[in-house]
Amino acid sequence: MAELQSPAPEVRFAADIMLGRLAKWLRIIGEDVIYGGHLTGYGLIRAARLEKRLILTRDRSLKNKQPPPVLYLRSDHHREQLGQVIRDCGLVVGKRLFTRCIRCNTVLQSRTKESVEKSVPPYVFSTQEKFFWCAACRRIYWPATHHQNMLEEIKELGIE
Ligand SMILES: [Zn+2]
Repeated sequence: MAELQSPAPEVRFAADIMLGRLAKWLRIIGEDVIYGGHLTGYGLIRAARLEKRLILTRDRSLKNKQPPPVLYLRSDHHREQLGQVIRDCGLVVGKRLFTRCIRCNTVLQSRTKESVEKSVPPYVFSTQEKFFWCAACRRIYWPATHHQNMLEEIKELGIE
């Protein structure tokens, strides 16, 4: 990092429907971001206003609709978009990696190994020690090679 920044107050996001990959990546680094089919145009504005979220969009025409605070993304590429959000919002990457459900945005809870035996493939059960789950969509997570790939992709952003 080039310069020291004081930690920004917690920002929560509402991602425009066109930003699915960015939304997924923000959840991977632990950020609170809502995303879905209804979140575009006025639907996006309404949801962001209701929950005091910062809108992420590439839609410049949104400003004609008097939105709450908006961050306009310059790039079409999710990696550059993620870099811009991290820089512009002063996000600290690393502390909350993999703490949120990628599918539904819920904060994950840890699970004992014994309790997931029937829910994960035998190979995973025998090779992994740490498990987490999403109480909302019941998906189970464990640190695996895809975590490593994701960490490498984050490093490539030059933000760690
Ligand atoms: Zn979930």
